[in-house]
Amino acid sequence: MGEGHDQTNPYSPYAFEAANKHYANQIHVPDPIVGARSRVGIITCCDARCIPERFFNLSENEAFVIRNGGGRTASEDVIRTILLVSVLSEIKELKVIHHTDCGSLAFSDEWIRETVARNDPLLPGGPFKSDALPWAEAISTQPFHMRPGDTERDRIERSVRQDVQYLKSHPLVKPATLITGWVYDLHTGLVEKCD
Ligand SMILES: [Zn+2]
Repeated sequence: MGEGHDQTNPYSPYAFEAANKHYANQIHVPDPIVGARSRVGIITCCDARCIPERFFNLSENEAFVIRNGGGRTASEDVIRTILLVSVLSEIKELKVIHHTDCGSLAFSDEWIRETVARNDPLLPGGPFKSDALPWAEAISTQPFHMRPGDTERDRIERSVRQDVQYLKSHPLVKPATLITGWVYDLHTGLVEKCD
């Protein structure tokens, strides 16, 4: 599988440094105290359309956010990050939020490994280094598994429930922490509870 996202946005440069200077000069207010005030952490996808600071209207120091491909929780780095936060500050809730039209729905580990193995020089952005394949083989991309008759929504909700369960059962996530699961609908902008 690799279908589902045949098109990507056309390249369009963005003036990052100019935008930051405007932010620093016009918007930024220094906040010397660490610790998200809501005591809520969000684990979600790195998709550029899935921005919790936007869809929850968060300001600085409101919540901490962990983003990775798919917003999956079963990774050492997600647990490492939760651990770091939870020794500094209370975490009242962790929200697992996956989203519709996620790129992780469109590929399998096998497809990614085959792509790296084939290493077409015409890959977007050029080929990988010649020794890339063993590294790709060592990584699980945690694809959203398909079952017969599944809708996209079924697959997203199942992955959310798996990730909620993973956090609930992990010894490094404190039992007092509420773990909740959500789906962010890119079309409506709504974040809907799903467990
Ligand atoms: Zn995604």
